[in-house]
Amino acid sequence: MFADRVRRTRERMSELGVDVLLLSVGADLPWLTGYEAMPLERLTMLVLPREGDATLVVPRLEAPRVTERPDVFAVHPWDETDDPVGTVASMVGRSASTVAVGDRTWARFLVDLHALLPAVTWRKGSDVTAPLRARKDAAEVDALRAASAAADRVARQLQGSAIPLVGRTEREVSQDLARRLVAEGHAHVNFAIVAAGENAASPHHEPGDRVIRADELVLCDFGGTMPDGYCSDITRCVWTGGDGPTSKVRDLYAVLQDAQAQAVRAAVVGTPCEDVDGVARRLIADGGYGDHFIHRTGHGIGLEEHEDPYLVGGNCEALAPGHAFSIEPGIYLAGEVGARIEDIVVATDDGPESLNTVTHDLVVVEA
Ligand code: ZN
Ligand code: ZN
Ligand code: ZN
Repeated sequence: MFADRVRRTRERMSELGVDVLLLSVGADLPWLTGYEAMPLERLTMLVLPREGDATLVVPRLEAPRVTERPDVFAVHPWDETDDPVGTVASMVGRSASTVAVGDRTWARFLVDLHALLPAVTWRKGSDVTAPLRARKDAAEVDALRAASAAADRVARQLQGSAIPLVGRTEREVSQDLARRLVAEGHAHVNFAIVAAGENAASPHHEPGDRVIRADELVLCDFGGTMPDGYCSDITRCVWTGGDGPTSKVRDLYAVLQDAQAQAVRAAVVGTPCEDVDGVARRLIADGGYGDHFIHRTGHGIGLEEHEDPYLVGGNCEALAPGHAFSIEPGIYLAGEVGARIEDIVVATDDGPESLNTVTHDLVVVEA
């Protein structure tokens, strides 16, 4: 699997005229080698020439954590008194004219590399890796399916009134969601937005001291990373008992629910990313809320919560089998209320597959 990814990476390097790819912290390295660099002041860097052998330059004290894959890379441990940036620079050599460096590489290393390799043209590592990582293989889709299923179990608890809401603060509910994400199999939680009533009009609301009341909308958007590194991300809204949603919220939600469902249906192989965004945007505009859908329709997901492909106006890239992304339109009435519905979807030759399967309805909970 890793050897195949290295082969495809080299093909892409040839297309782009990249002589060497340098990967440090971030998701590119584990995707390519199975090893994740520690985000430390000590340099870890994979040196992958387009031709010739790849080498993982790693601090000697981290080397025991490396699973060796001799078919993919050699390991070059460095000692505390060595100069690892100099080592990488000499591996890059004098012949390389174009070098791609991982997007999340610390600037301190790039600045030093730049000084040692003054003639090199630099490119972003994502120019090489992003389109490759965007198309998930079968094992990756399975991993995303498991992550979404774990998030669904928490969403089902929310919709089934198993998570107390009324009388608790947003922050308490957020912490509760986070605990449940871990209990359902996540290694760690990346976010757990809880936004009650008027706070739901802010898409990335920070859960705070606001106490959740009866008879209002609560938006929950949560996700985490599974032990294998793959991410979940789901948004559902519930209504806290009382008389049920007001007619205004019912109307808004019906428009949103239809827009989200139609956008999922539109996410077929060959469709430009921006057209999926366009479907949701047109339906929300037709419903009278055009000015209140203030973000793109979705983002790719995999080893990172946000990665290619982005479902946004201007992205003409066509969906391909294995593309995995969120579809998450929202409608936000500032100071009043808001709602968003989010699923993770995979484009397949048999059509779009939604990995989240819990109901999209605005469930009235007795909690
Ligand atoms: Zn978001
Ligand atoms: Zn989300
Ligand atoms: Zn999302």
